[in-house]
Amino acid sequence: MDDVRGKAGTLYVVATPIGNLADMSHRATSTLQCVDLIAAEDTRQTGRLCSHFSIDTPMAAYHEHNEVQQTPVLLDRLLKGDDVALVSDAGSPLISDPGYRLVAAARDALLTVVPIPGPCAAIAAISVAGLACHHFHFEGFLPGKSGTRRNRLQKLRAMPDTLIFYESIHRHEDMLQDLCEVLGGERRAVLARELTKLHETIYRNTLQEIREWVAANPHRQKGEFVILVEGAAEGEADARAEHVLELLSEQLSPGQAAELAAKITGVPRNRLYKSKLR
Ligand code: SAM
Repeated sequence: MDDVRGKAGTLYVVATPIGNLADMSHRATSTLQCVDLIAAEDTRQTGRLCSHFSIDTPMAAYHEHNEVQQTPVLLDRLLKGDDVALVSDAGSPLISDPGYRLVAAARDALLTVVPIPGPCAAIAAISVAGLACHHFHFEGFLPGKSGTRRNRLQKLRAMPDTLIFYESIHRHEDMLQDLCEVLGGERRAVLARELTKLHETIYRNTLQEIREWVAANPHRQKGEFVILVEGAAEGEADARAEHVLELLSEQLSPGQAAELAAKITGVPRNRLYKSKLR
């Protein structure tokens, strides 16, 4: 086994720019140049990146529609000794992008997996948002259908951590409406648009003001968005958690009810338990 692994290749997980090619790191460029194969979400997109940096490494498509079939194929190449770099269209692979299956399979096979870190829209956005960032919750994309999206938002409503959402260009209006209605339009939020690109815009206001600001100008509706929303205020979270606790206490012991309410609402169990004893 050791002998086989000694000859096995390495899987490199390589972050690429989210708009500005100057953000490509030296290490990312040299890794893509040196590996035997680049597994790319979209070979045309990565082809443009590679030609910009004069990289001529062979590529194979690896995306959400073929990852089940392609994972064993890539694993086989790694086991036979080829080095493979995984890239997505932009930013860090696996972050709302394909790659999890391959990384998990490589780790299960005890192969070496090396991160080549770099741009990520969520991290770039929170680093300039001016919202609490000691703890944050990365939600990524919400469901496309409004009903399921609202259900998911209900679950996040009492969370005290800053929430980070990705959104596709076509849905941001409906999404902002649901954010306002479920989380509350008065919450502070940041819209980070076209990060690292020519028309980069970082707009900080209440959710409702952001919604109106976007609706007021078609130019503001174009491009790629990260939306960050401040977490629930402590009192707001506690009030909802106590309501959940009351309901659960009708069926469960105080300890069980507090434990479950803490899981549902994100409010610490001890605080809930004490409130129950008050
Ligand atoms: N893996 C990527 C990363 O590391 O950020 C994210 C890929 S996800 C499929 C694409 C989403 O990321 C977009 O819909 C948008 O929400 C966000 N995004 C990507 N690039 C962005 C940019 N330059 N400015 C703002 N948001 C961006």
